This record gives sequence, C-alpha cells and structure tokens, in this order.
Amino acid sequence: MEEIKLFCPATIANLSCGFDVLGLCLDNVGDEMIIRKTSEKGIKITKIVGADLPLETEKNVAGVVALAMISNLNLDFGFEIEIYKKIKAGSGIGSSAASSAGAVFGINELLGRPFSTKDLIPFAMEGEKLASGSAHADNVAPALLGGFVLVRSYSPLDIIKIKSPEELYATVIHPQIELKTSDARSVLKQNVTLKQAVIQCGNLGGLISGLYTNDYDLIGRSLNDEIVEPLRSVLIPKFDLVKQKAIENGALGGGISGSGPSIFALSKGKETAEKVAKAMSQVYEEMNLKYEIHVSKVNSDGIKIL
Ligand code: ADP
Repeated sequence: MEEIKLFCPATIANLSCGFDVLGLCLDNVGDEMIIRKTSEKGIKITKIVGADLPLETEKNVAGVVALAMISNLNLDFGFEIEIYKKIKAGSGIGSSAASSAGAVFGINELLGRPFSTKDLIPFAMEGEKLASGSAHADNVAPALLGGFVLVRSYSPLDIIKIKSPEELYATVIHPQIELKTSDARSVLKQNVTLKQAVIQCGNLGGLISGLYTNDYDLIGRSLNDEIVEPLRSVLIPKFDLVKQKAIENGALGGGISGSGPSIFALSKGKETAEKVAKAMSQVYEEMNLKYEIHVSKVNSDGIKIL
C-alpha cells in the first residue's frame, strides 16, 4: 500500500465525572487525512484544507507524532500528509487529537502494522503535548480505539476500552467563542476535598457500570462533575441553561466537552438526541450567538479507512 485515506473522528473528553481519564469517540464528526509514502525521507505536511494551521512538520501535531513514530525505524523512505480539517481547533472536541491519531494510525497501516493500535497511543500523545502542553490520552485513545475509553493510569500507561450501549447518542454544541485551553486550565484548583473525591469516585464507578450493563438511568445519574464543571462552566455562555434544556428534553445528562467551550449531552436513541440538539440550539439562537451542533452515535471502531 502506497497511500491511505482516513476518517479521523472527533472525541469528547472528560465526560463530566471522568476528568482527564475518560473519553468517547464520535461517528460522523471528524477530519479526513491522506498519507502517502514518498522516496524522500522524513515527514512533510503538504496540504491543509479548512483551517489555518502550521505546515511546518515540527509545529503540526500530525508531523510531530509521525516523527516520534518513525525516529527509531531507520526507514529509507518517508511520508507526506494532507489534512482536510472539519473539526475546529480549540472547540473542545479533540481537533489536535484527530490529526495525531490519524497520522500514527495511517503510517502504521502503510508500514504493514508494526505496532498494535494500543502501542500507537504514546506516539499520538506527543501531539497533545504540542497542542496543549500536557500529553493527555483522553482524546487520542478513543480516537484510535473507538467507543468509551478509560485511562486508568498514566504511569504506567493503562488504557481500557469500555463497552457502550447500542442506542447511546451524543449531542455536542459548539458556541463560536474562543476559549483557550490554557485559560480553561488556569481556573482549575490543584486540590479537591475528600467529600468531592468521594462523590466523583461514586459517579465515575456508576458511569462505567451503567455503560457495561446498558443501564441508561444509571448513566444519567452518574453524569455529574463536582470538581471541574462548577469552575469552568462560567467561561461558557449560558452553560447552565443549555444543560438544563438538554435534560428537560430527554437527555440522560451532559457537561463540558473537553476543556470547552463545547457542551455535550448523552441520550438514549437518535430521536431524543435530535430533540435535545434543537433545544440546546434554541438557547444560542435566542441570544444570536453562532454555533455548530452535532448529533452522533458512539463510534465503536475509531479511525476508519476510507
Ligand atoms: P480541542 O481539543 O479543544 O479541539 P486542541 O487540543 O485540538 O483543541 O488544540 C488545538 C491546538 O493545536 C491549536 O493551538 C492548534 O494550532 C494546534 N495544532 C497543531 N496542529 C494541529 C492539527 N493538525 N490539528 C489541530 N490543531 C493543531
């Protein structure tokens, strides 16, 4: 194989009670990427369509992860990468992660799969380090593995794919405001109380259990974040109202997607997820704030070869 075309999915990280340890993969929201073998050694980003992002290999997450991956392989050829961006950078649905995951996945395929998909995660995390300063895995792991993914531990890296119910749909609304990841990080506190930790552990356990047992009510009851959401939600226009409207219209629960400003809701069934989308959109319609909205099934496979 000389060339590969990929769908690189958007992802929702954190998922309320799973701050920095949980993420899920979306099905119909994502970028496309073409990777091609070249006789010239090294990595070249030759084209970016749909976003103003750096073409320099060392400044683009796709380039950085590709370099990390091939550095020890002693190849006598290289790769060129074309990125067709649909996920806006800084939206909170894993724009950089889609490119990082796509680059390592595609190169691995072109090389005849020397690495397992799980082994690709640490390379993809190098892209997150470039994008946000921290090598987190809660977007790249679900983009690569699909479904819900739990990062049980970062040291050593221990990543677990979680089964998810068939009828679970996500609605994600992206208000068109700029919220820098660094600002969203700067409002966080470094300490939590024992009471907060106990509540968060209960909810995270409940969410995981609900996913395995198809218990939609338990999933909904568990989608609460005692620690980060109260601090971050003030940075997102009408967050409380958008979430309230989602729940009133049948969503199981919701919260901030990644570090925001996108807001997500989970629902049972597509019809409910679309009703929820309408209700969430209406809040921003009424205040004349531009937004993008997505309704997506959980993508259990991750990156797709097109
Ligand atoms: P979010 O997860 O909120 O969508 P990201 O974590 O994807 O946001 O961060 C985007 C940052 O990564 C931007 O500063 C952007 O310039 C940088 N970046 C570098 N290369 C890429 C790429 N290929 N795709 C997206 N963002 C990239």
